Amino acid sequence: MQISDCIFCQIAQGKIPSETVYEDDGLIAFKDINPLAPVHLVVIPKIHLRSLNDVTPENEPLIGHLLGVIRRLAEELGVAESGYRVVTNTGTDGGQVVGHLHFHLLGGQALNARIG
Ligand code: C5P
Repeated sequence: MQISDCIFCQIAQGKIPSETVYEDDGLIAFKDINPLAPVHLVVIPKIHLRSLNDVTPENEPLIGHLLGVIRRLAEELGVAESGYRVVTNTGTDGGQVVGHLHFHLLGGQALNARIG
């Protein structure tokens, strides 16, 4: 696959619309188009990393920042206290469908084991 074909790169570049809830130089968070819970965001680094397997020590500050943004979004969306789940599916057996590193933020209900 060409990076230019990557759907999440196109979302990060504003070429495909998304319901963006947060954006900065390094990342973007948007509402999942097929939500599995009342709160379901997808949070991605803007640079194309295929999965967690592609993260290098150089990228780790960005991923730490991304997790901090997820924590703040959970607070802002009112799910921090009740609880939420952060999921990154990795590779085929991990159930990853979109080949651009992303983190699901799920909450707003009691989550069963299947969700995410
Ligand atoms: O982890 P996985 O690769 O399975 O998840 C990809 C997620 O990206 C899905 O939950 C899907 O609904 C979401 N998606 C989206 N907007 C798109 C394409 C996929 O929110 N344009």
